[in-house]
Amino acid sequence: MSDGQVFPVPDDWAGKAHIDAAGYEAAVARVEADPEGYWRDLAGRLDWIQAPTKIKDVSFAKEDFHIHWYADGVLNASANCLDRHLPHRKDDVALVFEGDEPGHSYTVTYGELHEQVCRMANVLKDLGAKKGDRVTIYLPMIPLAAVAMLACARIGAIHSVVFGGFSPDSIAGRIQDCESRLVITADQGCRGGKRVPLKANVDKALEQCPQVDKVLLIRWTGAEVPVVEGRDVVWDEVKDAASATCAPEPMNAEDPLFILYTSGSTGKPKGVMHTTGGYLAWASWTHEAVFDYRRGEVFWCTADVGWVTGHSYVVYGPLANGGTSLIFEGVPNYPTPARFWEVVDKHKVEIFYTAPTALRALMREGDDHVTKNDLSSLRLLGSVGEPINPEAWLWYHRVVGKDRLPIVDTWWQTETGGILVSPLPGATALKPGSATKPLPGVKLQLVDADGKVLEGATEGNLVITDSWPGQMRGVYGDHDRFFATYFSAYPGKYFTGDGCRRDEDGYYWITGRVDDVINVSGHRLGTAEIESALVAHDTVAEAAVVGYPHDIKGQGVYAYVTLKAGIEATDQLRKDLILWVRQEIGPFAAPDVLQWAPGLPKTRSGKIMRRILRKIAENELGSLGDTSTLADPSVVDDLVKNRAGG
Ligand code: ATP
Ligand code: MG
Repeated sequence: MSDGQVFPVPDDWAGKAHIDAAGYEAAVARVEADPEGYWRDLAGRLDWIQAPTKIKDVSFAKEDFHIHWYADGVLNASANCLDRHLPHRKDDVALVFEGDEPGHSYTVTYGELHEQVCRMANVLKDLGAKKGDRVTIYLPMIPLAAVAMLACARIGAIHSVVFGGFSPDSIAGRIQDCESRLVITADQGCRGGKRVPLKANVDKALEQCPQVDKVLLIRWTGAEVPVVEGRDVVWDEVKDAASATCAPEPMNAEDPLFILYTSGSTGKPKGVMHTTGGYLAWASWTHEAVFDYRRGEVFWCTADVGWVTGHSYVVYGPLANGGTSLIFEGVPNYPTPARFWEVVDKHKVEIFYTAPTALRALMREGDDHVTKNDLSSLRLLGSVGEPINPEAWLWYHRVVGKDRLPIVDTWWQTETGGILVSPLPGATALKPGSATKPLPGVKLQLVDADGKVLEGATEGNLVITDSWPGQMRGVYGDHDRFFATYFSAYPGKYFTGDGCRRDEDGYYWITGRVDDVINVSGHRLGTAEIESALVAHDTVAEAAVVGYPHDIKGQGVYAYVTLKAGIEATDQLRKDLILWVRQEIGPFAAPDVLQWAPGLPKTRSGKIMRRILRKIAENELGSLGDTSTLADPSVVDDLVKNRAGG
């Protein structure tokens, strides 16, 4: 398909980026020859209360399993994101806020952010929170969400941010799992012109969480909400009395910074735990290297702070680097599908980082929403969260990037803390749909189901053979689950769960989760490839493909297809699409079943939940499993009702 298409590093990037092609090669060689020195230098970008002398101490082996980075270093994450910038950049903008309603925006300087964080840190202490305690944060995408995270970090409390779209049951599960006693929330959130009843959801959740004895309530919309006597404390009523200074708690590099639950695409969410030193160093370095970030530039990552992307690239990476980070409360299509691009123009965004699911949704609305805006401030685009279909990549490049902006397709996971595989815009020629190459120090391998290492151009399961500083350190409260989930499939290696292809140039192409690789008559097929072929058809907005048991072929291909607005679902079109896949990939990949899907089941982070689609395809309607992380459960009812073939 688009394998042939290569976009070289643009001339205006080659000489100017932080890292060019020679710089990339040099870094790869150095981390090989002098890992200790390379990783020590990487830690040197942070301010340490006590600089680490122990750099890396890791074993993935079962008998001696441990992961320690910078183990004798002492630092504080909030001091690295705030205090160290004050002498020179107190009045620089740390956060640009854009509200759900156009017109509602303001900025927060480093000086102001520091003051708010100190005040909230002191309030948290008054509420009884101390080093090592878990604090659950359930807030809208507002600057106070960053304040809450940094206030926890300042006193050494471990934050667990729960995305504001989750239901009371999901919140309760996450509070119970990490046993937090304090919750920070707001009266309501605003998304797409609608109000989200955050406080009401927390009140409901807490009926199941008797151990929570304090709630810090932020008045955001000003709606009337019940305040529980003795339990709830209103931020506005206590913040002015709280001191505007708070000494940052000295933390060991390996003290936990946060817990975050994965998005639940494949099963029950895991409480991924990250520690302070390695995580922050990796978030900060990758933010600068991958996005070629320079101070003063407006960096906009559209992810919610409820996901790891929001942790690393809305809060910790940009702020550790003294940068300017845009926080957007709303959604891409409110009030119109032009919103993203209007915000880019309004705040002169230089670097824009979003997800394929948002791009596909905007793509189907037509180019006008994009092209009526200027967008000349943009210099780099990014993508994360799922494989980006070449069709969507090319649209992003042509329509948003005016054929001139590089796109960094960044592969990583909640578990990896930061980006691991990505182009560097000044160093790497781009291939649409490929996350290209590992960052220096990231050691990838492809293995087959038996663990045999595959060389050269090939396809297999993606594993990582050595640690990097941002690696997760555990599943909170369940050490055994950490090892069992990630290190037992292939002894001595971290298993990502993702399938991947490597081409002749050593470029990596994520084919989707290994569970999603299907085997049709002996051909191993990544579902992402068939989906990309379908999306490349003029009429198709989105597609999801799964395997199902097939008497003759072993597995058959079952495709769910969402058509673009205004396209009629006819039998002829179904035949055309099946034929189209035959031509684009090969006869073996042609869908055996093609069901029209007005909507696809997605997690609240916008990822397609293929697990459920597989159950529907297999006609196992009684065992759809955990659907608590689904954004819109009614989508499933429709798919079940109209299941192809009865
Ligand atoms: P769970 O682990 O609970 O099933 P999840 O894997 O969706 O949920 P995340 O950690 O948010 O949770 O997502 C990481 C996964 O997202 C990766 O393993 C990969 O499958 C996919 N992914 C992220 N970025 C990319 C990318 N640039 N290209 C391809 N796939 C990506
Ligand atoms: Mg995962």
